[in-house]
Amino acid sequence: MIGGGPSGTTTARLLAMWGHRVTLVTRPSSPSAPVLAESLTPSCGKIFDLLGIRAQVDAAAFVHGRGNTVWWGDEAMRVEPFADGAHGWQVMVPALEALMIDAACEAGVTVIRQRVTDEEAAAMPAAFRIDASGRAGVLARTRAGRVSERGHRTVALSAQWSRASWPLPDWTHTLVESYEDGWAWSVPLDTERRAVAVMVDPRTTQLTRGVHAEAVYRAEINKTRQLSSLLAGADLLAPPNGWDASMYSSTHYCGDDWLVTGDAASFVDPLSSSGVKKALTSGWLAAVVVHTQLTRPAMGETARAFYAAREAEMYAGLLALTRRYLSGSGQSHPFWADRAGVDTAEADAEPSPDAHRQAWDRLRLAPDLHLEASPAVAVASRAAVAAREIVLEPRLVTTASDPGVRYLFDVDVVALLRLAAQHRQVSELFEAYAASTGPVDLAAFLRALTSLVARGWLVWRA
Ligand SMILES: Cc1cc2nc3c(=O)[nH]c(=O)nc-3n(C[C@H](O)[C@H](O)[C@H](O)COP(=O)(O)OP(=O)(O)OC[C@H]3O[C@@H](n4cnc5c(N)ncnc54)[C@H](O)[C@@H]3O)c2cc1C
Repeated sequence: MIGGGPSGTTTARLLAMWGHRVTLVTRPSSPSAPVLAESLTPSCGKIFDLLGIRAQVDAAAFVHGRGNTVWWGDEAMRVEPFADGAHGWQVMVPALEALMIDAACEAGVTVIRQRVTDEEAAAMPAAFRIDASGRAGVLARTRAGRVSERGHRTVALSAQWSRASWPLPDWTHTLVESYEDGWAWSVPLDTERRAVAVMVDPRTTQLTRGVHAEAVYRAEINKTRQLSSLLAGADLLAPPNGWDASMYSSTHYCGDDWLVTGDAASFVDPLSSSGVKKALTSGWLAAVVVHTQLTRPAMGETARAFYAAREAEMYAGLLALTRRYLSGSGQSHPFWADRAGVDTAEADAEPSPDAHRQAWDRLRLAPDLHLEASPAVAVASRAAVAAREIVLEPRLVTTASDPGVRYLFDVDVVALLRLAAQHRQVSELFEAYAASTGPVDLAAFLRALTSLVARGWLVWRA
């Protein structure tokens, strides 16, 4: 494993917990290196739970962010708390990294503090090599075919400010403000200090013309209305540092005995506020794929193909979301997708509320069910995650390349589709489903059934 960031430490800890011998090689930390502050969304908590480190993350000196306060375009200020009172984490990247490296060590991972080159990494003995070295892309740059995203070249300039108190609806919130040709955001470090960053296109600012970064930074801050007025009463603690935040993806996410994960695989615009969540999720899936390959080599190729498809899909989804928002089409802000608990890929696949309502009304009012599977849907064997392995399982598919669906609202739709043709009453169908697959929540069952009808996968017999 190369890289001790969120993705590498996630994969390393999981593989060690599952009985594998893992060596993690990561750059030594440097106290003089610039420190980036980031907002982690509440959904990162799912992976912290899986890793068994939520208590440590909660106990660390990270502000618990309660949501976002946003000024976007001409819209009025939006104060958006996270759903259900959940909290995210406002982290200093080195502190999060140190915590996660400790957790990997605790699980038995051997950690070597060394900056490695591609050749050095390739020469280290390993049955499988994972590149989690972020933008550096130690193996990714020569193996994965990194592709820069046109039109998404961005530099982030970030600096820390201090003020005795910040006049905000909620000081723990991440602040986001758009301005004529860019956007800025701010992450609290404690009650007095905030990191404030601006995103600039290096081609259109004076950055490439040798103008000092602080002058560019101040000029950008002056374009904002809300943040500039907040900062008028604050002290700049040190000049800004710059980070490349340009987007890229890979043409190959894995080979026979290597894969790239997290930012080594692809980088999404910080506007999505999803980088760490993506890195954690990608790190988890990498562990599942490598575990499958090492324990059941016959499934290795299927597992790697599944990983590559998932990585490409995740990047495409986040790219589309970022573009929609930056184009100002009025789509909901990606910062809020997490707050609302919406998984964008799944939300897009669900039929419209109108289609749901019509399907539900028909199901509710029909004296008898006369349902059958539509010829547009078939049951086919597809790769899927089952606990810590990639397995082949039956799924509902609509095309040859469709990865398919097995569960909707935790209901096995392959079983439901089969049983629906055999029963005339919803109550009978419910009982038959429970008898064949185990207890099921009635509301979830009805939602899944309605969804199958709304999608046109279950149709009414003539
Ligand atoms: C300006 C900016 C703002 C961001 N804001 C947010 C945010 O608010 N919220 C969010 O969720 N995400 C944010 N992100 C994205 C987030 O930082 C990344 O997506 C996330 O850190 C990726 O994790 P990773 O483990 O894949 O890579 P990294 O975190 O980059 O970790 C890479 C690791 O590899 C090590 N390494 C690198 N080169 C070598 C080498 N040659 N040898 C050995 N080790 C090496 C590094 O030391 C490090 O430990 C932001 C990114 C930027 C640039």
